[in-house]
Amino acid sequence: MLRIKACGLSDVGLTRAHNEDYFEVDPRHQLFVVADGMGGHSHGEVAAQLAVEAIHDFIEKTDDRDTTWPAVTDSRLRRHSNLLKMAVRLAHDRVMGAIREDGALSGMGTTVVGLLLEGATAAVAHVGDSRAYRLRDSRLDQLTQDHTWVHEQVMAGFLSKEQARSHPLKNVVTRALGGESDVVVDVREVEVKPGDLYLLCSDGLTTMLSDADIRERLASGRTLNEICRTLVNDANARGGVDNVTVILLSIEGDLEQGETEKG
Ligand code: CA
Repeated sequence: MLRIKACGLSDVGLTRAHNEDYFEVDPRHQLFVVADGMGGHSHGEVAAQLAVEAIHDFIEKTDDRDTTWPAVTDSRLRRHSNLLKMAVRLAHDRVMGAIREDGALSGMGTTVVGLLLEGATAAVAHVGDSRAYRLRDSRLDQLTQDHTWVHEQVMAGFLSKEQARSHPLKNVVTRALGGESDVVVDVREVEVKPGDLYLLCSDGLTTMLSDADIRERLASGRTLNEICRTLVNDANARGGVDNVTVILLSIEGDLEQGETEKG
């Protein structure tokens, strides 16, 4: 049986008045979510929190394996991956519903990246430019593809990755919860292994630290709490121009079948 350890940390950064990121670490349901809200008058805070709570509520409600839910499921995905996908769609509905109820919230939205673990399979879902990474055998892989204009330009060959990092339009997301009448959620499944380290983060981290910077810190061998703190501190040390949020998740052990873990 795999054991997990996790920690999360969010910081307003050095130049913003509000922290419009929101996150949740829920070891009981093995659910981990980062959302990065947007919208004037701190409405991004509202959107991000609504989205994370909606995802959590749905995962909690469907915790019982016998629960059925009214949705079209993707037969290529496992049950919990479909649950996470549905949860993100419902989060979008909740943000849209809040905007309909209160016109002042118009224009708010949020990105989201979520990881839901069941057995040895992690479902990773995202909308927007919040990212998931995996460190395995000292190698860092980005598990999500940003839904941004600059990433589309990179994929089309019009911009290099380096140009995209410093492009004036680098913050323009092409998908967000609350953004359009419908939302397309990307979901993938990853088989986890003992020794893996997973990072979920808002773009406040990745605009300040390169993938090489992130890899170095994740591979440092320090405790999860120390790495979380280092990532946030280093994003701030380089300017801290945005809110920064990180969740770290380590896959700890591989107990023999039949062995039970003692608290
Ligand atoms: Ca941000």
